[in-house]
Amino acid sequence: MELSRDYSIDPVLLLKEYGLRITPQRISILSHMNQYKMHLTAEQIYHAIKDEFPSLSVATVYNTLKAFIDAGFVKELRVGDHASKFDLNLIPHHHLVCEKCGHIEDFHFIDLPIDKIANMHNFHVRHYHLEINGLCANCQEGHPSYIHQNQIS
Ligand SMILES: [Zn+2]
Ligand SMILES: [Zn+2]
Repeated sequence: MELSRDYSIDPVLLLKEYGLRITPQRISILSHMNQYKMHLTAEQIYHAIKDEFPSLSVATVYNTLKAFIDAGFVKELRVGDHASKFDLNLIPHHHLVCEKCGHIEDFHFIDLPIDKIANMHNFHVRHYHLEINGLCANCQEGHPSYIHQNQIS
């Protein structure tokens, strides 16, 4: 289930490849996102690297992430009232989203008839992303009725 996290990125090469300015802050943000292998909020990234860059602000981190999103290799994930999480999206993948704690997990296996759906609607698919909402393993404890009521049988 963690296939997309098996690769490592070289931040400098990545920035070069996408024609973005290479700065120590950008390198540090990308290294951190790559190292922690999970979906992080801008605040989490900020706190992880702020000691390296005394003049850094959360706004700068946001703007940098926006530039990465525009370039196409970072995806912003919004979950209810939780702060947006940012995801290195070099290998397309899908998400299981916990509505209670905001935890997001990656998954890759999918067997949707995308071609058929596209034909039915005469739709030209550029990319797709599946989000499954519910409760993560941790949040299910103490919520047996919720699970039962929403069981797919
Ligand atoms: Zn949860
Ligand atoms: Zn992801």
